Amino acid sequence: MQFRNEPADVLARLDALRAADAPTSGGRLLSYVYDPGVAELAELAGTAALRAQSLNGLDPTTFPSIAVMERDLVALGRDVLAGGDPDVVGSVTSGGTESCMLAVKSARDAWRARTGAEHRPTLLIGATAHAAFHKAAHHLDLRLEVLPVDPVTARVRAGDVAAALSPDVALVVASAPSYAHGALDPIAEIADVCAAHDVALHVDGCIGGWVVPWWPGADDRRWDLTVPGVSSLSVDLHKYGYAPKGVSLLLFRDRDRHRAHWFATTRWPGYAVVNPTLLGSRSAMPLAAGWAVAQALGVQGFEELVAPMARATRRLREAITAVEGLRVVGDPVGPLLAVATDETVPIERRIDPHRWSDAAADDGWALQPQPRHTQPDGTVLPRTTHLTVTPVTETVVDDLIAALTKAADRVRGIAGASAPAEFVTAAAHIDPRELTSEISAGVLALAGLDPKAGLDGPKADILALVEELPPAVAEPLLIEFLARFLEP
Ligand SMILES: *Cc1c(COP(=O)(O)O)cnc(C)c1O
Repeated sequence: MQFRNEPADVLARLDALRAADAPTSGGRLLSYVYDPGVAELAELAGTAALRAQSLNGLDPTTFPSIAVMERDLVALGRDVLAGGDPDVVGSVTSGGTESCMLAVKSARDAWRARTGAEHRPTLLIGATAHAAFHKAAHHLDLRLEVLPVDPVTARVRAGDVAAALSPDVALVVASAPSYAHGALDPIAEIADVCAAHDVALHVDGCIGGWVVPWWPGADDRRWDLTVPGVSSLSVDLHKYGYAPKGVSLLLFRDRDRHRAHWFATTRWPGYAVVNPTLLGSRSAMPLAAGWAVAQALGVQGFEELVAPMARATRRLREAITAVEGLRVVGDPVGPLLAVATDETVPIERRIDPHRWSDAAADDGWALQPQPRHTQPDGTVLPRTTHLTVTPVTETVVDDLIAALTKAADRVRGIAGASAPAEFVTAAAHIDPRELTSEISAGVLALAGLDPKAGLDGPKADILALVEELPPAVAEPLLIEFLARFLEP
């Protein structure tokens, strides 16, 4: 076969492209990636994925290795998150978003079957629930009701859930913990409320489910499928399961609720379709990688990797708390921190968290800015900067603390970014229905944003725009930006 480009040249080109990416190992990127800091694990995951490269997860009866790996992972989830309950069953999905969406689909269809109602059921979530539930409500056509969280702790209040329950609620969601703030919702209390009203409760453990079981000081918390009233639970293996992206677990305590997210049809002339997940043909590579890592580590290995993370998180939390002008939001449980301005110090000593993360970025540390968020009751969750700690963080924690402290000293007293007044005025007059691709591109240009150039450089000004715009305007603009960034 005559190739147009030699394979070695193609790979060299890929290496050159990859050089522009944020570093996926080594601890300088504190979001998106979960680095156990153990080279053999990444190698094992890669090798296992390659050996599963040619499989098709569409049919585990033709490729029974897939069934074995799925069974092993669900059994492990059952042991770690459900006290070994043999009635807890589940599926391996392509990621957290798919797990959350399928949990919502199951609850929607169970609600429909039970009530026989024609109207849309309600999905009841806290303001800190992951965006995947907004996506689920959007795609699956549920009414979304968002409860404001306690602005100090960033936790959902069980009393608010009780007050909002109605026969229309198909599912309540609580986080263990939330992505943005690392806040562990009072799940046992919420579960009591839900059980008393016979409403399903999903625990979103996508990020924390594989950490909280071994987190020091969290052993007295009751939050998983051993709590009566918890109906389903999601946990991503492509986060703290150290698998490459594309693998998550969704567990149910009830076989009928599990079956309710499946799809089967015999109403076409081809093979009988029966899919537990949204995809048809699907890769077994992330499954094989996640399975291999879990086989190698075992429960004890996962537990061992939590210890350095917990130590690094504690050191970071203490160091950030000691920085004049910054504070850690709430009382996070797990390896996630949200850092906000300390409003108790004089204004000239305060630090804007986005100026701070921009300053840290100049030193090669990538933190994640999160916009200010106004809740449905008008209370405000302040703008923050997020850090996801992983086992590798401990190996760089002294350098990281030094860089964060230096960055703080550089930006203390500098006011946060705000959107230019003329842009805010112009944006207030935008009718979202008029935002065609072309008009959106014009608005982006007016804001000084060039999608072709990407988002290199300071982020504070961009986050200020996002904070200022109504969601119905900001959302199509975000789509336009990324679509044009990706356009050939
Ligand atoms: C990451 C995450 C999700 C969504 O997962 P993806 O894997 O990014 O699709 C959902 N919930 C929480 C709490 C998460 O951290």
